[in-house]
Formats: sequence, C-alpha cells, structure tokens
Amino acid sequence: MAAEALVLKNRPKRTFGDLDGATRDELSDPSLPADPLVPVGYETRDTVASLGMLAGNLVANAAVFGLTHRIDRWAYRHRVANLGSTRFGFTGAMMAWDFLYYWDHRWMHEVRLLWANHVSHHSSERYNLSTALRQPWSGILTHWVFLPMPLLGFTPAMTSQAGLYNLLYQYWVHTEAIDRLPAPVEAVMNTASHHRVHHGQPAVPRQELAGIFIVWDKLFGTFEPEVARVKYGLTKNIDTFNPVRIAYHEFADIARDIAQPQVFATSWVTSSAARLDAFRSPSGHRTGNRHHRRLNLEPSWPLRHHLTQPGPLLIAPSRLRTAALR
Ligand SMILES: [Zn+2]
Repeated sequence: MAAEALVLKNRPKRTFGDLDGATRDELSDPSLPADPLVPVGYETRDTVASLGMLAGNLVANAAVFGLTHRIDRWAYRHRVANLGSTRFGFTGAMMAWDFLYYWDHRWMHEVRLLWANHVSHHSSERYNLSTALRQPWSGILTHWVFLPMPLLGFTPAMTSQAGLYNLLYQYWVHTEAIDRLPAPVEAVMNTASHHRVHHGQPAVPRQELAGIFIVWDKLFGTFEPEVARVKYGLTKNIDTFNPVRIAYHEFADIARDIAQPQVFATSWVTSSAARLDAFRSPSGHRTGNRHHRRLNLEPSWPLRHHLTQPGPLLIAPSRLRTAALR
C-alpha cells in the first residue's frame, strides 16, 4: 500500500466526487470521450475503515472456523470422487474454487440477503489496495457454495488453501496504479482494469465477477471492458467510516423493509411475497419489482452505473439488459 500511495502521489488526480452530480443518462452517455486512467487516490479515514473491516473479518472468520471446518470435514467424508488426490489435484482445486467463486460472487450481487454481506466490500468511494481489505463479516452465509469441493474429494485443507490463494491473487487488482495490461493478459486474467469496472456503480447485473480468470465472465455474459472513468462506490453511498455500520447496514435495511407497516397492511400473499423479496432481491435491483413499486419501497441498492462508452462490438448482454430497464 505504501508503494502504491507513493506511485499515486506523483500522478494527476481526479477531484473526489467529480461524478456525484451526474445523472444516470449522463453516466451512460455513449458520446462521452473515453477517459484515461486518472486515480482518485487515498484518504486516511477511508483506509482506516478498510483496515477495521479486515480486523473484523479475521475475528468473524475465527469465530466460525470450528463450525465451517466441521461442515467441510463432514462433506469430505461423504465425497463422491477423489479429485484432490490425482496428479493435478491442487491445480484442479484452484480451478474449481475460481469457478465456484464466480457464482458465489454473482449470487452475492443478485440476492439481497447475500448482498448484505458483500456490500461492505463495495462501500468505499475510492479504489486502492486498502479497498481490497474491506472484507465482509458474514462470509459464513455463502460457505455452502464451496461444499462441492470437499464433496468432489478436495481435502478441507486443500480447499482452504485454494480459497486463500484466490483471495491473495485478488489483492493486487484493487488499484489505480496499474493501467490496462497487454491484451493477452487482459483476455484471460482478472486484472486491475477489469476489477475497476466491477467496483463502479452497479449495472444490472454486475460485471467482472471473476476471481482469477476473467474467462468466467466471458462465458457467462457478465464481461464488460473498462472504457471510461469509473464512479466508485454505491449509487446511494452510506457516508460512514464506522466498520460496524459498513458491515451490517444492509442487514438493518432488510429488517426495516420487512417491518414496514405497508408490508403488513397488504394481503397475506402480497405481504409474504414482499417480505421474501426483501431477502431475495437487492432493493432497486429490478426496477420492475412490483412489490417495491406498490409499496413504494425506497430502492437502497443502486441501479447503475459506471461511465461506459460502448465500442461497436462491446455491448455486453448485461448492458443490453440494463438499457432495457432504463
Ligand atoms: Zn462484488
């Protein structure tokens, strides 16, 4: 982080909040010129908050380690294959984790209850190596996503190791000090450029969800290259450096949505569906959400978006879907 801060110190800076007043149309205006990479840089309170999130993450993980390890061991005892003991066992574990990570990450962006855990990682309006340390405190919510690994015969230790290496790989992509890399690297690997797009204000659904290999996004239709300046953070930012609020604010919003008097005033079917929706769909994720419209729930999850300037062949399916929602 110190080296990155030094590198950024000598670069021209964007003004923090320079895109705050931009409307959704302006943010998605394809006539805007393509932007060179101009960093936002560091801010002390932001970095301290990220370090606080890391500390809380370590404590939370330690608190549930006994339980998650027991679950993994149980799954391994009931394995249906022995992929971990083959010659390419560890390579297989790395690939399997990366594949499952893509879906874990995607579901965290699509399911509100899971988003409540992951939103903390997206809460910074800056983007630097300290942002990578904004790790969530409720990761146990998606531990089940990786159970196919022990079930396929990767030992719990090998599974954890693959997860750790995957996380470590993703550290360096959280930076504005590295511009686009040579095309062959950008084509296959998750890079700083790809991940900057991911930390831009969200489109529907999010793009660049990969951990190590960007090929998953290309395969599953969530790839969109970095072509213009990115507005980091959430459309509705939470304006806090308090790690506890960062970690739990969306859980609190879900509870508030469920407890709304309007929800209880409607029919049992409608209110049950609305309560389910509060768990299932990040608020505002689907503008056509009939329950949110009817109940006038304030969308707390922003619709979109980072600046984009589509090239002739670069209109990803995700962008088309977003356009349809506008
Ligand atoms: Zn994410």
